[in-house]
Amino acid sequence: MKNIVIIGNGIAGITAARHIRKKSDYKITIISAETAYFFSRTALMYIFMGHMKFEHTQPYENWFWKKNRIELLKAYVNSVNTETKELVLDNGTVLPYDDLIIATGSKPNKFGWPGQDLKAVMGLYSKQDLETITKYSKDCHRAVIVGGGLIGIEMAEMLISKNIPVTFLVRETSFWNKVLPAQESEMINQHIKEHAIDLRLETSLSKIISDENGRVKAIVTDVGETIACNLVGLTAGVSPNISFLKKSNIKLGRGVLVNRYLQTNISNVYAIGDCAEQHKSIDERNAIEAVWYTGRMMGETVARTVCGNASEYTPGNWFNSAKFLDIEYQTYGWVWAKPKKDEARFYWEHKEGKKCIHLNYNKETQQFIGINTFGIRMRHHLFDKWLKEKQSVIYVLEHLKDANFDPEFYQQHEAEILTQYNRENGTNLHPRKKNWKQIFLKG
Ligand SMILES: Cc1cc2nc3c(=O)[nH]c(=O)nc-3n(C[C@H](O)[C@H](O)[C@H](O)COP(=O)(O)OP(=O)(O)OC[C@H]3O[C@@H](n4cnc5c(N)ncnc54)[C@H](O)[C@@H]3O)c2cc1C
Repeated sequence: MKNIVIIGNGIAGITAARHIRKKSDYKITIISAETAYFFSRTALMYIFMGHMKFEHTQPYENWFWKKNRIELLKAYVNSVNTETKELVLDNGTVLPYDDLIIATGSKPNKFGWPGQDLKAVMGLYSKQDLETITKYSKDCHRAVIVGGGLIGIEMAEMLISKNIPVTFLVRETSFWNKVLPAQESEMINQHIKEHAIDLRLETSLSKIISDENGRVKAIVTDVGETIACNLVGLTAGVSPNISFLKKSNIKLGRGVLVNRYLQTNISNVYAIGDCAEQHKSIDERNAIEAVWYTGRMMGETVARTVCGNASEYTPGNWFNSAKFLDIEYQTYGWVWAKPKKDEARFYWEHKEGKKCIHLNYNKETQQFIGINTFGIRMRHHLFDKWLKEKQSVIYVLEHLKDANFDPEFYQQHEAEILTQYNRENGTNLHPRKKNWKQIFLKG
């Protein structure tokens, strides 16, 4: 019987294990250093804020694994020997495998800042990080967060929920503007400030200063300002967690390099989830995709391959969602920070500055390329369908009502959006009657 070993019990590794079990009788072992059982990393902030307990973030009961003959080992893998097909664990155990799946996720970036390893300086990634922030937030008089991305803003929300004053250092000229177009980025700048977060744009961290007990007592910015604080969040992005593979024969780039089948350069060794890096990016996607649903997709794909049905990873249309304090964000297809030369844009913003949509389309053919929506919830399956059907921006605007997923009593804005589009483009578009079939028939 084939012996499959998976390193990492996050969404990627766990999905692979579940699907291999569905398809085979193979021996399956999952090794992970962080926690005994799989939990939802995306919910860490809600545990901190008291909305849920850690146990609520575990999607499976603890008996599930034994019942499904998936062995769980809590250990750190120190090294991989691909010639003998063995792993060495931190407790000295040598573990053989036939097929190895690397699903070791990411770690927060630390750029060698002086003081980055002081007490009360932390990233927000692991359960241990959650424990650290919980401990040090108890007597925190001011926190400084370094790095303006999705995790930074989550950390800011967590801390202000406990009435801790937060200074937020963002190196860029505007929040997350490498990803968001200028309008959305500015909307979020304003929203952050409205939450009394001290947002410092174009400001980087120079060093972190210790008190007499080895805990942070202040930071110094690149403009020479000293800010007194006793908690620092490092949220300047993440990178693949692969340092334990440096001495192996497995080819590494920024992540573990894989082909479309998620295979590494060594036969019977695969990599999935945040730690995998495509040799060649798929369409316009990043070669490393550090998001939840792609980890799940890769887990399903690799399970098929390992069970004899070699399958390519085909993630389909890009989508993502997040939350910036009170504003929900969704994106489908591509809306780059700046339009490409054959692209045109349409932007609508609600007068209160908490909702907007931004459409990207081809200037000549009018083909719909992507949409950002803030503060209005949309149906994923419809945008996916319209992108697949290569619908025009006009079709999308006239059927926007079909995609709106907000509850009925929420204010609807489609008429206002169409009026603005007509005014700016000299057109006469009308909202179409709701097409219930396309709303409810998925796929
Ligand atoms: C705070 C936060 C919020 C997020 N919110 C969102 C969101 O809203 N939407 C979204 O799409 N994505 C979100 N993400 C990203 C998403 O959580 C990750 O993309 C996803 O969890 C990665 O899954 P994974 O299975 O690849 O790896 P991981 O979940 O990182 O699991 C890998 C596991 O392997 C273990 N490990 C690593 N090396 C070893 C070793 N040598 N030996 C043993 N064990 C090892 C690690 O400790 C870890 O437990 C968020 C991430 C964070 C941190």
